[in-house]
Amino acid sequence: MAGFDKVLIANRGEIALRILRACKELGIATVAVHSTADADAMHVRLADESVCIGPPPARDSYLNIPALLAACEITGADAVHPGYGFLSENARFAEILEEHDLVFIGPKPEHIRVMGDKIAAKQTAKRLGIPVVPGSEGGITDDVEAMLVAREIGFPVLVKAAAGGGGRGMKVARTEDDLVEALQTARSEAKAAFGDDAVYLEKYLGRPRHIEVQVLGDGEGAAIHLGERDCSLQRRHQKVWEEAPSPALNAEEREQIGETVAAAMRELKYRGVGTIEFLYEDGRFYFIEMNTRIQVEHPVTEMVTGIDLVNEQIRIAGGARLAIAQEDVIFRGHSIECRVNAEHPETFRPSPGRIAYYHVPGGLGVRVDSAAYQGYSIPPNYDSLIGKLIVHGRNRTECLMRLRRALDEFVVDGVETTLPLFRRLVRNPAIQDGDYDIHWLEKMLAETP
Ligand code: ADP
Repeated sequence: MAGFDKVLIANRGEIALRILRACKELGIATVAVHSTADADAMHVRLADESVCIGPPPARDSYLNIPALLAACEITGADAVHPGYGFLSENARFAEILEEHDLVFIGPKPEHIRVMGDKIAAKQTAKRLGIPVVPGSEGGITDDVEAMLVAREIGFPVLVKAAAGGGGRGMKVARTEDDLVEALQTARSEAKAAFGDDAVYLEKYLGRPRHIEVQVLGDGEGAAIHLGERDCSLQRRHQKVWEEAPSPALNAEEREQIGETVAAAMRELKYRGVGTIEFLYEDGRFYFIEMNTRIQVEHPVTEMVTGIDLVNEQIRIAGGARLAIAQEDVIFRGHSIECRVNAEHPETFRPSPGRIAYYHVPGGLGVRVDSAAYQGYSIPPNYDSLIGKLIVHGRNRTECLMRLRRALDEFVVDGVETTLPLFRRLVRNPAIQDGDYDIHWLEKMLAETP
């Protein structure tokens, strides 16, 4: 195995620290990069070397490809880990690194590209035998054609922007009369947001859960699945609370969807970690997208499998084969992650500023992935995630009890955080029963803010 001597971490915050930890355990030297706003960040303090790559706006620093290439050159790094967000799903960035004899720790550029295009991704998933939402074969340009497709799949239908992202450019049409208007609005929103007015149609699912499957492949045709995560608790399409396993699936469903996805990844010769996202309703799975990167919520999978996903990512990128066979993946207990944001717990307004006091919970089965510390000033320039509280228990009940006490131990003073929201959620009967869909949290917040 080739392996690496030095990895440049092209990210910030908790994920930069997460990658740094994996590198240290592998005996690989680390290079942190940072904007001027992040000079005091924890990932900069803990890395072996650091390079300032630009001013606070992400487009001038964390998205600045020439500055990242220069940082690799100066430090002699031989690989780049992109984390999540920023350049992690930029196929061109992956190619540029390859052209400079640097390794992109991630999938093959062609797989990033195909999964980044919603219509191509859906067609690819379908070809690989992954169940998809019934809908139009591809983009739809003509209103008459749209009407025919909608009648065939049945109302309500969802009009989606081909170039969509973050839930934008989506419109529900409940009746035939709604459809013409929905098409028009979706097209103009898509044009304004993405400069591309292509749309497609899907059956609208009324009360689905969001269930996603974690995969790991070596790029040569070996691939396994590491079970699912249930990320149904969302606000404005942003995940808030994630758990593994899903309280909604039985063992047979779990094995079946896992095997379907793993077989698809073997056929694709997928490399590295990836997540296939589904909506799940009435016992059926419907593919919505594939994320070709490590995800924020990956720790819940690590807790129930004992497998370090970032370590595997780095080893595979370094040319190693898969060290784990499917039968070696054993699921133990239950894990829940809460995304603690520096935001007002009711209005969700960002709350940057100085953390005056910081105390993280501990004890058996408690993990905190965070780059925050006492005295740290959260800059206003980036997302508001300050840490993830991840708890593991032998079963879901133990996990919930442990989460409740860990949340009570967690203290962050000086800024507002979403911790009070989680203290409410963990005590809610519907959450305790695992009885929630993707609309549950927004409804709850609208009723009792
Ligand atoms: P984006 O890339 O904009 O995030 P997705 O296709 O991932 O778009 O969909 C975003 C969200 O919209 C999903 O998480 C789900 O909540 C909802 N959604 C997407 N497709 C459907 C559908 N066919 N029926 C109901 N809800 C859907």
